[in-house]
Amino acid sequence: MIVAVDGPSGAGKGTLARRLAERLNFAYLDTGALYRAVASRVLSEGGNPADEKTATAVARALVPADMARADLRSETTSQGASKVAALIPVRQALLDFQRSFATLPPGNKEGAVLDGRDIGTVVCPEAEAKLFLTASAEERARRRHKELLDRGEKAIYARVLEEMRERDRRDSERSAAPLVAAEDAVLLDTTDLSIEAVFEKALAVVLS
Ligand code: C5P
Repeated sequence: MIVAVDGPSGAGKGTLARRLAERLNFAYLDTGALYRAVASRVLSEGGNPADEKTATAVARALVPADMARADLRSETTSQGASKVAALIPVRQALLDFQRSFATLPPGNKEGAVLDGRDIGTVVCPEAEAKLFLTASAEERARRRHKELLDRGEKAIYARVLEEMRERDRRDSERSAAPLVAAEDAVLLDTTDLSIEAVFEKALAVVLS
């Protein structure tokens, strides 16, 4: 069984997908980490994430250790990730890995939960359960701001909100797999919901 969890950043996809995988004993893949890993390596090699040739070469040579890079969650990497993600050959290079993870989950698990932007539309249109999480930009920025402060980083809310909007714009206006909900996805607005409430609603969808 494949469970697709899509939506913009800060909507709560990662937290939900991880919990669903744990409860169902499914494998879990954070697909954003793939794009982040590409951006992080390009940046550490002094390259430009928007340069198709450089980013594609890195995407094709990606190894699991790249997904554990120290700066994976930094704001610079986040912006870089949405730049490499706008490049069709980069998306193409990451597709096979995502598809085989979903159809043949590691550890002989009976299913996989993937979170991202295009799981229900492009990577696994055949997924049995599709969830599309949303939340207001202000709430998503508030969560991201808190996450940065919790990690001991300096962050200004207004700046985080601005960067969130910039990334939203890039992710939804790009021609390669723009952020849209699959027609058969269940929409969940998490703005006023607790993590627990989101989990219960999502689990009910998956088990229905
Ligand atoms: O989900 P996360 O914020 O870690 O993703 C980082 C960036 O990677 C997003 O802004 C988006 O541009 C890109 N991404 C994507 N498709 C996915 C997952 C992430 O385009 N399936």
